[in-house]
Amino acid sequence: MPKCQVVNCDDKNSTRHRFPNPKKNSREFEIWIKATGNAKLEEIEPEKIYKNLRICHRHFRVEDRSTNMYLKPNVYPTLYLPVNLPPTIQCDKVKINENLPLETLVPAVMESPPSRPTSN
Ligand SMILES: [Zn+2]
Repeated sequence: MPKCQVVNCDDKNSTRHRFPNPKKNSREFEIWIKATGNAKLEEIEPEKIYKNLRICHRHFRVEDRSTNMYLKPNVYPTLYLPVNLPPTIQCDKVKINENLPLETLVPAVMESPPSRPTSN
């Protein structure tokens, strides 16, 4: 069982999930990388991460799983993470805001998350 890449995750038993394909879904791939809080991944070739590294099942919400083993498309790790994902990513029916800068994926130890703009 490959080690889960999320920082401080010591899970040894859950299903492992492959990262999104960096060639087809580079943005999702980046978000997964950010979500792990694992700085080492930034230095590894995306192709190698995709082929060799995994994230375990516990970082995905029940509603993001299609079965006990598989994930729905376009979901992101959101649980037990060392970082706070912005609300646009955490919301249900996850949709990536294309304009959302990845810098908003701040480590949990840093100040407050970006403030939500008041619409309506
Ligand atoms: Zn894990």
